[in-house]
Amino acid sequence: MAALLIRSIARTIKRPPATASAAYSTEGKVALITGGASGLGKATAGEFIRHGARVVIVDSDEESGFKAAKELGVAAEFMVCDVTVEADIARAVETTVERHGKLDVMYNNAGIVGPMIPASISELDMKEFENVMRINVIGVVSGIKHAAKVMIPAGSGCILCTSSVAGVLGGLAPHSYTISKFTIPGMVKSAASELCEHGVRINCISPGTVATPLVLRYLRKVFPTATEEKLRETVKGMSELKGAECEEADVAKAALFLASEDGKYVTGHNLVVDGGMTAFKIAGF
Ligand code: NAD
Repeated sequence: MAALLIRSIARTIKRPPATASAAYSTEGKVALITGGASGLGKATAGEFIRHGARVVIVDSDEESGFKAAKELGVAAEFMVCDVTVEADIARAVETTVERHGKLDVMYNNAGIVGPMIPASISELDMKEFENVMRINVIGVVSGIKHAAKVMIPAGSGCILCTSSVAGVLGGLAPHSYTISKFTIPGMVKSAASELCEHGVRINCISPGTVATPLVLRYLRKVFPTATEEKLRETVKGMSELKGAECEEADVAKAALFLASEDGKYVTGHNLVVDGGMTAFKIAGF
């Protein structure tokens, strides 16, 4: 069992006052975000902090995790945690509650795309498939389980998970990723049906394509000689909504709504944030 390395950034300075508006506030909330060192997790941590929360980001990438916590400021701290190791998740939740007295929001966001080659399911490498499932599925279930352990007795809490447009439509991403992301709305429905009676909400977000390190790495494999600018343009071109492209902040704001009291009646839901991408494909134009 991998040992959990925990180091918190020294926090002697008083937290700056939140610039929270009355709507979509996370004032006073304590949130834990997996995969918080980069991309959507980091952007969401920033959004929660700007609206008054304290955020514990956890990630298997130690260097990026400490760097992200520093950038996010005094309301953020970092713990190393591999979501495939249940003991890591358990310790991250326990340590958060020990340090902050509670856990209001658990965001199971860490994920990988996994290998895209070979593209045919007839050639699927089962070891690679298992690896994607361990992070994208078992890691999320483990996060739900350990958050529920503290939220059920507390009688409140909000659990968020990240699915994808690839979990709504087939054929947008490699098979392992698509299969893994289809499981997320299912586990959300299953858990929501039980957690309702305890006052705990659980929802997932299905983002469209955002130019995070994950997507840029993936596109780099498809277009090995393209410049970063060209890759970013490719992502922009995936938006169906005139005049808009999906940015990290769009996903972070959806998470903020669900985590705030304004989302208090929303549970068991898959919030698609894709600028019409799935509507467009379903409509078959
Ligand atoms: P990212 O690569 O920028 O961030 C993912 C983070 O997860 C990284 O910091 C990585 O170190 C961490 N991580 C990976 N394996 C881990 C493990 N075993 N334990 C702990 N942390 C681990 O990617 P992102 O685009 O921000 O993706 C975040 C989530 O959003 C993923 O679940 C991804 O599938 C999903 N998503 C992304 C997009 C997009 O367009 N970027 C679209 C739909 C869904």
